[in-house]
Amino acid sequence: MGADVAVVTKVHPVRSHSNAAQGGINAALTERGDPWEDHAFDTVKGSDYLGDQDAIEVMCGEAGREVIAMEHMGVIFSRDDEGRLGTRAFGGQRQARTFFVADFTGQALLHVLYEQVVQADVRVYEEWFVISLIVEGGECCGAVVMEMRSGEVHVIRAKAVIMAAGGLGRVFEPSTNALICTGDGMALAYRAGAPLMDMEMVQYHPTTLKSNGALMSEGARGEGAYLINAEGERFMERYAPNMMELASRDVVSRSEQTEINEGRGVNGCVFLDCRHLGEKLINEKLLQIRDLGRDFANVDMAHEPVPIRPGMHYQMGGVKTDVDGRTSVPGLYAAGEAACVSVHGGNRLGANSLLDTLVFGRRSGERAAESAGAMQHAPIGDSAGDIERASIQAMLDRDGDGELFGRIRLEMGETMNARLAVFRDREGIQEAMSKLAELRERYGRVVVSDKGKTFNTNLIFTLELGFMLDCAEAIALGALEREESRGAHYRTDARERDDENWLKHILLSKGPEGPSVEYLPVAITQWQPQARTY
Ligand SMILES: Cc1cc2nc3c(=O)[nH]c(=O)nc-3n(C[C@H](O)[C@H](O)[C@H](O)COP(=O)(O)OP(=O)(O)OC[C@H]3O[C@@H](n4cnc5c(N)ncnc54)[C@H](O)[C@@H]3O)c2cc1C
Repeated sequence: MGADVAVVTKVHPVRSHSNAAQGGINAALTERGDPWEDHAFDTVKGSDYLGDQDAIEVMCGEAGREVIAMEHMGVIFSRDDEGRLGTRAFGGQRQARTFFVADFTGQALLHVLYEQVVQADVRVYEEWFVISLIVEGGECCGAVVMEMRSGEVHVIRAKAVIMAAGGLGRVFEPSTNALICTGDGMALAYRAGAPLMDMEMVQYHPTTLKSNGALMSEGARGEGAYLINAEGERFMERYAPNMMELASRDVVSRSEQTEINEGRGVNGCVFLDCRHLGEKLINEKLLQIRDLGRDFANVDMAHEPVPIRPGMHYQMGGVKTDVDGRTSVPGLYAAGEAACVSVHGGNRLGANSLLDTLVFGRRSGERAAESAGAMQHAPIGDSAGDIERASIQAMLDRDGDGELFGRIRLEMGETMNARLAVFRDREGIQEAMSKLAELRERYGRVVVSDKGKTFNTNLIFTLELGFMLDCAEAIALGALEREESRGAHYRTDARERDDENWLKHILLSKGPEGPSVEYLPVAITQWQPQARTY
């Protein structure tokens, strides 16, 4: 289509969090007797019927083509004994349809895509930090960005902006997410007028290390690992007798937390038991997480059970888009974890997120290129960055009695992890909201200790904290609003799913008086809500 494209990223592209994805990417390979509709139904059921079924059909219908395209670009997927692309079983799915590259699938995909970027001569502004989006006459027409090396603030004009800025994991502490996952994209779009949807839907992954929250891939259970409690019992028998360890993540995480809360854990953990898989398989398919266990928990999973617990992993909610990435702000698109299409609804299936990034990333790109072709740039100049320049200068000039960003960020993360985790209730959510209000007030007085311009990470982290507080408030508000239990959102004061009142999305828009709440019906095409058992 001949569009002039640039990528802006606050780290080198291959250091994006996608690099950390371990387990794999889902696609029904129809010629092996797995109709894509089955993948779609598993996704709908996994979402606890909150996913929009029209969007899920698009994602699952296009999945096979997307995986094959990546293979042709050069991703060396692991293969089975017959030399065909190999699949592993993943949670909440009746078929093994997860394609993988050992336990570093994301790295393999990301590096191959970056090669394509280099080959196509796409301009990459690496280590440039987006501070705000420019909206003129209701349309998004560029961004204000800081070149981190020089500290200069620039204006980039654009006929279309695709927000693919990833998740917000670090709003919780700890999290499986990289330290750079601070929800910037969701907050940037929200501030520019695009609503956030289903922000209360936060996924806790069942197997994270207690020490630092690092992820032990679902690939381990996919290869046959057990979950056991202090008594050595495979406790999932009680909660999900059919799917056992491979029930959906929300179900497994709640089961583990129940075991821990009822005294059948050890030091706040249960165990991932891989001993019976044998050293050969572990070294071939799970070597990275074997190393993680050795390095961060001093446990070798080939010989001992690894202490694990549920940990914050993924944000199902995000910037509300249609199946072509369009947000409600013309010119602004969103894709990947920052977006909510919504295909994951109340709970994402493992290995559906990489797929979501590829399918909807491509579709957004195609739509944005199409519409940009027929447009002129908005008449904006360098002065469009003046407000941000002034506010950054004011932040740098501030001294006084304020504190540095670090304590506020930690208190926010710990509050979220205490009050908005696997189990929630009204009282706890309200406590979190008043704590967030206090942190917001303290953030207003925050001090940046480094006054320099060159690579001022202190300043960048402080700006990120502003985005994180927006996201944290949206999560808490959504969670307070949704008075039922669905998917990852489990309210101990409203334990049942309530389709009559809550089979709907929650949309939050930023207004001068604070956020406003709206609802949107869930798109249902072929699957009526049923009781959800595994
Ligand atoms: C440990 C781990 C393992 C996972 N394993 C799997 C798996 O096996 N399968 C699966 O399907 N999913 C997995 N997931 C989820 C999945 O990896 C992510 O949801 C997905 O990779 C997100 O991709 P993304 O392109 O949306 O964002 P990212 O890959 O996070 O990229 C975001 C980009 O935005 C840039 N950015 C952000 N803010 C700014 C700003 N202010 N200015 C400039 N640039 C900015 C960043 O620099 C980065 O380049 C895993 C996640 C984690 C954390």
